[in-house]
Amino acid sequence: MTKEFLASAAFLGAALVSARWAWWRRTTPGLRVLVYHKIGTPPAGSKLKDLWVTPEKFRSQVAWLNAHGYVTVLFSDLLKAHRGEKPLPEKAVLITFDDGYENNYSHAYKILRELGAKGNIFVVYNTIGKVNLWHNPKTEPWVNMADLAMLREMRESGVIEFGSHTMNHPNLEKLTLEDAAWELTESKKQLEAALGAEMSAFAYPYGAGAYSPAVRASALKAGYVLDFSFKQGKTPWPWNPDSGPIDRLFIKRGEGNLDLRLHLERGASRLF
Ligand SMILES: [Zn+2]
Repeated sequence: MTKEFLASAAFLGAALVSARWAWWRRTTPGLRVLVYHKIGTPPAGSKLKDLWVTPEKFRSQVAWLNAHGYVTVLFSDLLKAHRGEKPLPEKAVLITFDDGYENNYSHAYKILRELGAKGNIFVVYNTIGKVNLWHNPKTEPWVNMADLAMLREMRESGVIEFGSHTMNHPNLEKLTLEDAAWELTESKKQLEAALGAEMSAFAYPYGAGAYSPAVRASALKAGYVLDFSFKQGKTPWPWNPDSGPIDRLFIKRGEGNLDLRLHLERGASRLF
């Protein structure tokens, strides 16, 4: 083997590693909001396997946060900071879950409680105690959603807080503005009545409508103060709502603690 061959092989290897892990990105400031969906092992036939993180990996990620000085906070902490009442800890991070699956209760909640961490769940009101009805079961098997007793137990524990993720998980951009407004206002009202807590946070299903001025205006008019997008990244903090919704950091199934670190520090873990 020639020196030239070894040098080019080393260069190619470094390039591949750099595409896989975006260690070369600059460290960026901003609010760190992690997004998870399902904690468990994907069922056969799932085409959205990336949205499943195993309990072992989730536990290891929460333990990593604790060990590296990160402080997990709740929506109410974010609201107080946004209103200037109490600043966030320097290394604050929000752990969020979209949709409200039963596995958030049976796995995530128990792991968070055990490790002294906090989490936040965006709930789809009409699927509480049912299944993920908005998915076609041929492409994404139906799994159980948390029921009301589980949601209440999590809220009362102080470990988990909730936000709205609409009534039925529609693509808000495909609805009439009137129907979209109903999804936004009705879910806020129903969730507040069911959980006895103010719903100040909202996440757009599929991220749809987050950048549609009319849909977003409707979300803010419904009374949500903190709205979260589906866009990968960190949002400058203090946050100016006029600049758009709050971006989030998606944790995928194959990702480890190095990815988690790159998400938190640089706003992305990979080139692609
Ligand atoms: Zn969702």
